[in-house]
Amino acid sequence: TNASQPKRADRSKVYMADLESTLHYSLRVEAARAATLSGAQLAAFKCYVATLVKYFPGRPYVQTYLQNLDSWLRNWTEPELPRSALKEAMKNNRDASHPAVLPTNVTWVGCQGSEPHFRGYPCGLWTIFHLLTIQAAQSGPDKELPLEVLSTMRCYVRHFFGCQECAQHFEAMAAESMDRVAGREEAVLWLWSHHNEVNARLAGGDTEDPNFPKLQWPPPDMCPQCHREERGLHAWDQPAVLTFLKAHFSPANIYLDYAE
Ligand code: FAD
Repeated sequence: TNASQPKRADRSKVYMADLESTLHYSLRVEAARAATLSGAQLAAFKCYVATLVKYFPGRPYVQTYLQNLDSWLRNWTEPELPRSALKEAMKNNRDASHPAVLPTNVTWVGCQGSEPHFRGYPCGLWTIFHLLTIQAAQSGPDKELPLEVLSTMRCYVRHFFGCQECAQHFEAMAAESMDRVAGREEAVLWLWSHHNEVNARLAGGDTEDPNFPKLQWPPPDMCPQCHREERGLHAWDQPAVLTFLKAHFSPANIYLDYAE
């Protein structure tokens, strides 16, 4: 992968290359760092893969890959999972009658930074979890398992996310209010508003890519109807934001440009 290769990304689109790169990195690199997985960490990993199987709108052979990994994990009933066994189970299988493939290259498109240390994986991880909260909201009764995706994300971040400072910040936000989320649509808006809190905290800081300033998202030019003014102050129109998020993070808005 050539990180400096210029790619034309449209910020109103979601790119499959970003999503698959993120999954490859999170499953095969970040989650496979420990010599063995056990206890709460193993449970967090199983939960992450099960949630992906349920809600990740992947290409058929990626879906098969996730399904195979999920059934393999369900069959793993020993308390410890050695990294060597997990790595073996996470290999691609292109020859089967139902190929199971998660591309092993990392290509950032919508998440491409102006320098290699900007954007990339953390951008992809936010994108995946927004997508999963939206797919969950579109697929079942609103009041049923409202925290399914958010608690998966909370566990994943706590046990695996390589940026420890980020994980602590996120855990603090989760501990404060996540448990009060009572519906799947509320879960979508919880993640959106807390991501904006993070954007506000990081704006102007040294992790900000100068070419991608941290904004309160979606900005007015992406979604004019999301913004209102109340007595001279900015306010979000939350129903309009929800409608926007459902369209932005819908399978129809995922593009295959630059995907392997
Ligand atoms: P990101 O913030 O990564 O956003 C990715 C994409 O999501 C954007 O390009 C946009 O299309 C969309 N988006 C933006 N805002 C929203 C929103 N509110 N709702 C829905 N979609 C949106 N970095 C730190 O330096 N300190 C931290 O404490 C920290 N905590 C983090 C916690 C978590 C859980 C994660 C996943 C990342 C954290 N990061 C932290 C990294 C940081 O938030 C960014 O991911 C990183 O700086 C890359 O920024 P970005 O410009 O690519 O946009």
